[in-house]
Amino acid sequence: LNRRLTEFGTTIFAEMSALAVTTGAINLGQGFPDTDGPESVREAAVRALRDGRGNQYPPGPGVPELRTAIAAHQLARYSLTYDPDREVLVTAGATEAIAASLLALVEPGDEVIALEPYYDSYAASIALAGGTRVPVTLRPADGRFRLDLDELRDAITPRTRLLLLNTPHNPTGTVLTRAELTEIARLAVERDLLVVTDEVYEHLVFDDAEHIPLASFPGMRERTVTIGSAGKTFSFTGWKVGWLTAAPELVAAVRSAKQFLTYVSSGPFQYAIAEALALPGSFFADFRADLRAKRDLLCEGLTAAGFDVYRPAGTYFVTTDIRPLGESDGFAFCRALPERAGVVAIPNAVFYDHREAGAPFVRFAFCKRTSVLEEAVARLKALA
Ligand code: PMP
Ligand code: GLN
Repeated sequence: LNRRLTEFGTTIFAEMSALAVTTGAINLGQGFPDTDGPESVREAAVRALRDGRGNQYPPGPGVPELRTAIAAHQLARYSLTYDPDREVLVTAGATEAIAASLLALVEPGDEVIALEPYYDSYAASIALAGGTRVPVTLRPADGRFRLDLDELRDAITPRTRLLLLNTPHNPTGTVLTRAELTEIARLAVERDLLVVTDEVYEHLVFDDAEHIPLASFPGMRERTVTIGSAGKTFSFTGWKVGWLTAAPELVAAVRSAKQFLTYVSSGPFQYAIAEALALPGSFFADFRADLRAKRDLLCEGLTAAGFDVYRPAGTYFVTTDIRPLGESDGFAFCRALPERAGVVAIPNAVFYDHREAGAPFVRFAFCKRTSVLEEAVARLKALA
């Protein structure tokens, strides 16, 4: 294994999902739903398979039906206009969109700023691109993990090429506010930075939280690559249909990298997701309401079990602090939890460069059936 990758080992998701299988514990670790997305979308995939649509290599940028649906989605929801032919690229999940963006846009030695804790593929993708990652730590304040804008400003140097953002944010559940995004956009324009923004949880926001794409702020459309994924929005994480929207030069650059990674992927599923994106607003509202109830169930259960809970404004994760339980090492806690309580969770420290800053935090996923969450909560109460 080359030196760029040795520090990363095996992803925590593989490790913890394997632990769930060997111990028979309830898996609230890796973020995937335990029920599939809409029947009509599955049927659309079957139809595409049967009709021979997408069974051979689809076009490099993605099938026109899906690119058109992605552009229509950005327009209808956010009033952002993208040309389906030049400004949309379909990828093998958001994971490939992130990797290809960094490989295409970062020169060796460039600095890439990412909000810490960050989704684990970010660090590996920055490393593969030869970039230097510069974490800016989100810190708990007033019940939520907050971005310190002064810290972000101070992290920018003449070598900074790109900001890698994520909102709604995995693992903290933070949704960046309009005021925060305004300031981030101002900094990006002032310092002439590119921004890659991972918005895979765009539809998973609760209560008063609002997801606002960074690309919709002044001066941002031409410097922003916006990433989405069907895995989260439609509960088909195994299909690996993701996408990005950006200005033509940026899309062309990312496509140069993407063509040598997978070339293309997910042929028949692309047609199905084109239909999914056109589902009525009620689908998205119902999905959100269902997840919100699950969030509340798990948050209340974790509170009763003695955790400090950061109630998430978005995503399907809740970050907890284990110190009230007399614990301080999330790794040790998560390795022991299947035996102690029959539940698997993720130690947030894996998402940090400053591991000590993440040590007491543990992430639980609530994208599971209500009965599964109830059983998990009952088991966790044994810890209190
Ligand atoms: N970004 C974030 C923040 C994620 O949590 C995930 C995975 N769940 C991804 C990207 C990867 O998405 P995909 O499965 O579409 O590759
Ligand atoms: N994004 C999912 C999570 O954060 C997992 C994706 C993966 O297993 N790579 O749990």
